[in-house]
Amino acid sequence: MSRERTLSIIKPDAVRAGNIGNIIARFEREGLAIAGARKCQLSQAEAEGFYAEHSARGFFGELVAFMTSGPVVVMVLEGDDAIVRNRTIMGATNPANAAEGTLRKLYAASVGENAVHGSDSPASAAREIAYFFRAIELS
Ligand code: ATP
Ligand code: MG
Repeated sequence: MSRERTLSIIKPDAVRAGNIGNIIARFEREGLAIAGARKCQLSQAEAEGFYAEHSARGFFGELVAFMTSGPVVVMVLEGDDAIVRNRTIMGATNPANAAEGTLRKLYAASVGENAVHGSDSPASAAREIAYFFRAIELS
């Protein structure tokens, strides 16, 4: 086990539905602490840069439009094996395939509007945390 930090985003659909509190409570209950958090409205350029690895995919325009459709909550979660554990708590990308009790099963409506983001590797976590937070903002 290793102590890790990972980037989480509560996406616009979950913010609109009033699920910020439910999602943060779930992370804390599972032993993932909030090392930093901010509610913000992403610009088109910020959303494109964040999801740059998907820029050649057919759904990229839809993804950027969705991620800029309303405010999000960007957070750094910290805990033992936080990267993989967050992905497990989130569930599969498509909520139709997500396990019972996962955040996407509970709160997501479709593969495009799927409630939460989580870093998928240590390299992604490092890049994504630095994209949104300065070291002084995390504790
Ligand atoms: P995220 O990176 O948001 O945590 P993920 O790692 O589970 O999600 P990725 O493959 O990285 O999945 O896709 C990034 C996001 O792009 C997905 O969360 C989803 O919102 C969107 N997406 C992925 N596949 C599709 C698709 N086939 N149609 C529409 N949107 C999609
Ligand atoms: Mg991803």
